[in-house]
Amino acid sequence: MKTKQIHHSRKARVIEVVHTVTLEGDGTGEQAYREVDRYWSTDGKLLAENDPYMEVAIPACNKLRHETLKDAEDYVPVIRDRNFGTKKEKDNHRLHAYECQECGFFHVGHRRERPQ
Ligand SMILES: [Zn+2]
Repeated sequence: MKTKQIHHSRKARVIEVVHTVTLEGDGTGEQAYREVDRYWSTDGKLLAENDPYMEVAIPACNKLRHETLKDAEDYVPVIRDRNFGTKKEKDNHRLHAYECQECGFFHVGHRRERPQ
């Protein structure tokens, strides 16, 4: 049997809030310029935030974005260095830069090992 969910509004009232719009980001691929809306209580508590970047910033890929393929390629040795001496080091040879189908930016990831 299907149960029916009941949503009771126990309270609904109009309250006074402070609405701020700020220009944020540095204009790079990692942090695009955008307007961020925030709603604050009159005593300064953040109630809600609407950052349009946050919606696109958490795509399925959720990886560090690079604007160009070259930027991503330049980042490969940085990751290799970071992996050096850790258990991730064995995968260093599979690191490569690629264009992401999800977000259209470039990432560094692991190339699939082809069966020999
Ligand atoms: Zn992506």
